Amino acid sequence: MAFIVKKKISGNEYYYLVERNREGNKVKSKTIAYLGKTKEGAEEKMKEILKEKNVKEKDMNIEGLANFCKLKGFVFRSSDIYGGFGGFWDFGPLGVELLNNIKREWWRYFVQEKENVIGMEGSVISHPRTWKASGHITSFKDIAVVCKKCKKATKLDESEFGKVKCECGGDYLKQGVFNLLFKTNVGALNSEEAYLRGETAQSMFMNFKLIQQTSRMKLPFGIAQIGRCFRNEIAPRDFLFRCREFHIGELEFFLNPDEKKCSVLEKKHLNLKIKFLDAETQERGKDILKEVKINDLIKSKKIEEWHAYWLAEQILWLKTFELSEIKIREHTKEELSHYSSATFDIDYTFPFGSKEITGIANRGQYDLTQHQNESKQNLEIFDEKTGKKVLPKVIEPTFGIERIFLAVITKAYAYDKKRDYVVLKLPLKLSPIKAAIFPLINKPEFEKLAKEVFENLKKEFNVTYDSGGSIGRRYARNDEIGTPYCITIDGDSLRKKDVTIRNRDDTKQIRVKIKYLREVLFKLIHDEIKFKDAGVFVK
Ligand SMILES: [Zn+2]
Repeated sequence: MAFIVKKKISGNEYYYLVERNREGNKVKSKTIAYLGKTKEGAEEKMKEILKEKNVKEKDMNIEGLANFCKLKGFVFRSSDIYGGFGGFWDFGPLGVELLNNIKREWWRYFVQEKENVIGMEGSVISHPRTWKASGHITSFKDIAVVCKKCKKATKLDESEFGKVKCECGGDYLKQGVFNLLFKTNVGALNSEEAYLRGETAQSMFMNFKLIQQTSRMKLPFGIAQIGRCFRNEIAPRDFLFRCREFHIGELEFFLNPDEKKCSVLEKKHLNLKIKFLDAETQERGKDILKEVKINDLIKSKKIEEWHAYWLAEQILWLKTFELSEIKIREHTKEELSHYSSATFDIDYTFPFGSKEITGIANRGQYDLTQHQNESKQNLEIFDEKTGKKVLPKVIEPTFGIERIFLAVITKAYAYDKKRDYVVLKLPLKLSPIKAAIFPLINKPEFEKLAKEVFENLKKEFNVTYDSGGSIGRRYARNDEIGTPYCITIDGDSLRKKDVTIRNRDDTKQIRVKIKYLREVLFKLIHDEIKFKDAGVFVK
């Protein structure tokens, strides 16, 4: 990681770029460059140097990733002109496209394509009694600690305090216990204290009966939602991993507590191989992964069938983005949240460590029971299968959307030796821009036709028109941000009414008639046709 260091020498300020790297247990610092005498100048210069340096670095760390995301317009610190605000991030022009595409794919997979799941969108602020009932006011807490040795401040779960030590080996000193819910006041006069939601789940529990009645759903069924959540983290860190405002995609799957059989478990779920770390192994202080099939977990009674089904579905969805470097970790008894009887984390193996990107919990009847008691409303529904009224239990797959965003970018990031720059090999469905349209030379007849192509494609896809700089420069710019196709209008295009399409991943080119372009692009993006079969190959 590189950063600016200010040195004062006989009253004058000098700025240097210093790099700090961990080598084994030691952290080594090295001055990379002199950046001048002003802070502004130093920041500008650093940007240029890091731009050169970062795109060539193969081993990415979390700071490198944050830097790449900033330089390419994906993610900025919130309120950057004021020095940022801890735990808050802004999505730039490309970032918002990628974020929306991830959300859209999530919705398609978990709502649109599932017959037994429907969606909703709840308010961020709900009746304060929501959080009393849910247990968040009493149980949603972290312990702020500081290391006695290195003085680093961080947070711990209640279950961790007294057991874990700092990275440096020092013991932690308790600073206080804090609730993670953000408080706010609603109304001006006689205002009422309320909370920003810490999860989207509660609105699905509260609306569960209304939704079941109005959409005539039969048990078992799910309600899904993607939305912003807020947690007043003591120590936000690791870029988008631990922020104070973020999106989660949550699915609450309601079923009869007596229903043990899952009717939709298929071979693709049962035979799915996973790297698994069970609770017992962790309780023995070990972290040995076992390779097992989902079916093994069911047979050994580690997991119930419906729980297993949704766990497998989560993994299968991640695989649609080629995110296969994952491991499943079972929560130990002590770690379990106040509402859960069994929880599994799905961790993605980043170059800088294994991090949880999604999880799945068995919430049982906890939440509906709590809301029933607090509201004095009967939340039981009629189960047609058994002919009896029942209070359903809940299986809850949860996804950290920002975390998936980072996993996707990390996976896509590839330094191409031959091209000597980064090619962001994003899954086509997720690429912020699907195609860039170039006139080969800036002459009116080329530009006119290129604009026509652009106007036609933009109705359906997010495309850009780019006439600045050499063709090589334009290719590079688009490869770096993950644009899968570059479409060029050249001399032949004017006569033959066709274009060349260049493929991001292998730089190969085909020629396609302009009248088929929209259809071809659609098929390419949806993987309905292979690139080499989509047009006439250019040698
Ligand atoms: Zn320490």
